[in-house]
Amino acid sequence: MSTTMKLPELFGSMVFNEEAMQERCSSASYKAWKKCVTEGTPLDISTANEIADSMKQWAVEKGCTHFTHWFQPMTGVTAEKHDSFINPVGGGKIIMEFSGKELVRGEPDASSFPSGGLRATFEARGYTAWDPTSFAFIKEGSLCIPTIFCSYSGEALDKKTPLLRSMDEVSRQAIRILRLFGDTETKRVTASVGPEQEYFLIDKELYSKREDLRMTGRTLFGAKPPRGQELEDHYFGAIKPRVAAYMKDLDETLWALGVLSKTKHNEVAPSQHEMAPIFSDANTACDHNQLAMEMMKKVADKHGLVCLLHEKPFAGVNGSGKHDNWSLSTDTGKNLFKPGSTPSQNAQFLLFLAAFVKGVDEYQDFLRATVAFPGNDHRLGAQEAPPAVISIFLGDELGAVVDSIIKGTEHKDSGKRTLEIGVDVLPAIPQDNTDRNRTSPMAFTGNKFEFRMLGSSQSISGPNIALNTMMAEELEQFADELETSKDFQADLQKLIKKVFTEHQRIIFNGNGYDDAWIAEAEKRGLANLTSTADALPVYTAKKNMDLFIKHGIYTKGEIEARAEIHIENYSTVITIEANTMVDMIRHDILPAVSAYATDLCERADSKSALGVACKYEKSTAAEIGKLTDALLDACDKLEKDVAKIPADSKKAMAYCHKTIITDMAKAREAADTLETLTASEYWPFPVYSDLLFSV
Ligand code: ADP
Ligand code: MG
Repeated sequence: MSTTMKLPELFGSMVFNEEAMQERCSSASYKAWKKCVTEGTPLDISTANEIADSMKQWAVEKGCTHFTHWFQPMTGVTAEKHDSFINPVGGGKIIMEFSGKELVRGEPDASSFPSGGLRATFEARGYTAWDPTSFAFIKEGSLCIPTIFCSYSGEALDKKTPLLRSMDEVSRQAIRILRLFGDTETKRVTASVGPEQEYFLIDKELYSKREDLRMTGRTLFGAKPPRGQELEDHYFGAIKPRVAAYMKDLDETLWALGVLSKTKHNEVAPSQHEMAPIFSDANTACDHNQLAMEMMKKVADKHGLVCLLHEKPFAGVNGSGKHDNWSLSTDTGKNLFKPGSTPSQNAQFLLFLAAFVKGVDEYQDFLRATVAFPGNDHRLGAQEAPPAVISIFLGDELGAVVDSIIKGTEHKDSGKRTLEIGVDVLPAIPQDNTDRNRTSPMAFTGNKFEFRMLGSSQSISGPNIALNTMMAEELEQFADELETSKDFQADLQKLIKKVFTEHQRIIFNGNGYDDAWIAEAEKRGLANLTSTADALPVYTAKKNMDLFIKHGIYTKGEIEARAEIHIENYSTVITIEANTMVDMIRHDILPAVSAYATDLCERADSKSALGVACKYEKSTAAEIGKLTDALLDACDKLEKDVAKIPADSKKAMAYCHKTIITDMAKAREAADTLETLTASEYWPFPVYSDLLFSV
């Protein structure tokens, strides 16, 4: 990155953004693109040709030789297939070309991407199609074109297509509601998202000595270090020079790519940090979060560091999550989850709030399933992470407003400034709702909801598809009812009261970390899907399938495919972890502890000859001997059980959850105790205190 570049010039310098398009395309083409993006009109081929040519010129000037359709298959990461711009013109010469056809459509061989059974192998080819709503950008000498990825018969094989569908659907239904409140201007309502991203940074050399980190992204062994996060001195603490250099480089890389990286700070655990961008539309936020994760890893490598995005790289210290801040806003600049300044706006706010509360209550199981995967199982319900039970935190003020609506009593505010609300029965809404409750999985934070259950490594697409779609469903129900109303004000109040009354069980303003809450939640009938194995089956529950099919987000086949991919992924990940564990036990840990025990015995023998008691040598060797046998037994059992994993994916998930996880815990327990008994010079890989305090 050029150090002489000023930030405004640097920002988006690697992006073919609106400004670049305006500068380089004819005004007719620019207008056609703009209309395509804002109104969804298709682009004709001559316009596509012109845009492609301008894009190519721009990219070549910046040193690109290749272009790639950049897409998001159901693995949850991104994929790219690079083609060069060269085209032979005879006489051994080439020209650099890029056509509208190449921009708009690509045909990667899709056979190695997971399809969950959607695509028969004889039609292995999928196609990618340009998403003109997300800007093309340059990464490592290639022009990257954000695209959707579909099968030849049109089924979505990716995470972008359904996200775009859900954004359209929530916009359509939200506009129906806005019209009822007299808004005739809004043409589009956008789901806005700001994903806060947590990560760990550790030293690359230490990382390379740990097979578990290399193979699985997390430590499968490791005794508790003498110091963890007890001192609570890391959170927002001063950033160390090596980390600061990394963060600066990361910021500059992201800014060049047009990613609105805004805040950076240390997190709670040692070596843990966070990056939060300024929010954007959900589609861009999703693309940018993918880019951010990729760049976090690449930039770390340049600094001799490794960025760990796993949800729980280290047992016993905080894991990493991703807070998905979500809201709806109009193209006229209004945030629909911000309490307004007029009585009518506040009634509208309460209606959107009611839709959200109803949606989260009705689809709590599905929302939980969107964050269910092996990495997150270690995090949810543990240190500083929300529990597996979904509830909504509204804060004292807004909570009291909702209470008074339910009870039909007048709302008394706490003396803070409140907003007038003329619609007689609806109470005033406190203006600054700054309450923070970090224990809630879904917290209202003044003008948006913060969904805190996402794992740090996951694509934010799935959870946002779910939020958009459930919101579309509730808004549709409300619009159907209110559009035919003879007395809008009266029916509106009735509806809001009815919804809050029927769905108040999902609202919880207390401490989500408290065991008493889990018991209380069960009494309220809330779902407590504690593990991935419990959560994933709800993907295909009838009410959930019906929701997505009705709104055209997924076909039956598309949703079944996703369920299948997640279920298969579960046992695949657990199997890899189990095999890595066996490998490390046999090749590293057993030989090391055996050598140490032998040494101790030899020393005891030679010292005994001098008449010394050798308490330390003998007792330690004996203890190590016992634990070594236990570890060997646990390892044998784990290996045998892995061989018995059923072929059927659902059975495999249940079996891995019940048997393999238990086996692994047993093996780890023996190994971690051995670590505490073994002299450092014998232990075969870096331990927690090395890893966590290395940078
Ligand atoms: P926190 O205390 O959780 O760090 P911040 O106020 O820093 O909260 O905001 C966190 C994230 O919320 C940022 O990424 C920010 O861009 C995002 N955010 C703010 N407003 C909205 C909105 N209207 N829609 C979506 N995300 C938003
Ligand atoms: Mg947050």
